[in-house]
Amino acid sequence: AQHFLKRIHAHADLNAFITVDESATLAQAAAADAALQSGQAGALAGIPLAHKDVFVTTDFITTAGSKILTGYKSPFTATAIAKLGAAGAVCVGKANMDEFAMGSSNENSFYGAVKNPWNTKMVPGGSSGGSATAVAAGLCLGATGTDTGGSIRQPASFTGITGIKPTYGRVSRYGMIAYGSSLDQGGPMARTAEDCALLLTEMAGFDAKDSTSIERDDENFSRLLNQPFSPDATESQPLKGLKIGVPAEFYGEGLDAEVKAATLTAIEQFVKLGAVVVDVNLPKTELSIPTYYVIAPAEASSNLSRFDGVRYGHRATTYTDLEDMYRKTRAEGFGWEVQRRILIGTYVLSHGYYDAYYLQAQRLRRMIAQDYQNALAQCDVIMGPVAPTTAWALGDKTSDPVQMYLADIYTLSLNLAGLPGMSVPCGFDGQGLPIGLQIIGNYFDEARLLQLAHAFQ
Ligand code: GLN
Repeated sequence: AQHFLKRIHAHADLNAFITVDESATLAQAAAADAALQSGQAGALAGIPLAHKDVFVTTDFITTAGSKILTGYKSPFTATAIAKLGAAGAVCVGKANMDEFAMGSSNENSFYGAVKNPWNTKMVPGGSSGGSATAVAAGLCLGATGTDTGGSIRQPASFTGITGIKPTYGRVSRYGMIAYGSSLDQGGPMARTAEDCALLLTEMAGFDAKDSTSIERDDENFSRLLNQPFSPDATESQPLKGLKIGVPAEFYGEGLDAEVKAATLTAIEQFVKLGAVVVDVNLPKTELSIPTYYVIAPAEASSNLSRFDGVRYGHRATTYTDLEDMYRKTRAEGFGWEVQRRILIGTYVLSHGYYDAYYLQAQRLRRMIAQDYQNALAQCDVIMGPVAPTTAWALGDKTSDPVQMYLADIYTLSLNLAGLPGMSVPCGFDGQGLPIGLQIIGNYFDEARLLQLAHAFQ
């Protein structure tokens, strides 16, 4: 823990953390040490992790990247974080993030932008940008992230690490500050698929405190690592029998040539390991952007109504009456992107527009999920790029929110469908910036995805 705290201080310029609390970290490390001494150590005893600041914790302040939660200390700890802690993991700090997880570049944080350690003029991706940078720069051994529309996979891709967004309902959302509740899913980010498997095994599991938590037996997500894919597999072709679906819509206009080449080369590697490629279609890919950007803000506008200046964090200092206090608190406490999403969300939910926007988006959501089932009926997994480009320069897209939204084209649909997906590093562009390969599976296929990623790594 001391080693990583030193590194965090030495690389403070990356701005990967919102809160570092040395005494809280060292107290956790001492507890892990004691467990080791008494022979009661869990699977992650002493492993230093960074937690995205969207997970509430009793020992560290939680802000969700927002001014409105300045200094907020939760009376309870998020289930996923408590489970990692029970396994012995030590929290080295709360990782920076886009405010309330809204963003794709980590430039929407009240606590400042995070820098990409491969090139500090570039964004690390978002919204789990602090977690991604912390892992990539060696400021911890793994991290937690959340993915509502790509926020684990895209920053993992931009920083050259591995991240997995599990099936919706796998990891408890209890204590994970809600953005789009029907889309939000926590997951691990680490150097390798092997590390992600270790972390996911501890994080996941049924939780009665989350009404959408899936009632399934606990799983060991490492169980398929180094296993042959099928009985026909050989030593040189361990993935023999694997069918990889490559959707034409992920290779259309707007995809950077280097990202295209690197992801196709990666798929070729899988073919060398015994896989075959099948052409599939996800015809509603483009429509996932307007669909998502109606549903996510609609849910967000409702979820964020609790930040009213009465219950948590920041409150305006001067106001005339209660109504004025709400208005001033929220105007001062929320950043521009959050205010934009609240406006969009309340608009699409309002009388007279509900049918035209929200209901239509719900219909499209069902069709997008069906597209995936049609595609996955022809293959075992789907592969393609995570994002159309590699990391862009800080400030490049901040003045044009729509440009930012368009960059989410390959990640959003999976959350709308509730499917698991991961990002695996597969090369670099001409500027030395990492490129990620996305691997998408059917519901509950996480162990399979991790097996394939591990075979590739
Ligand atoms: N970029 C998307 C958004 O801003 C996704 C963010 C996320 O997954 N949390 O909503």
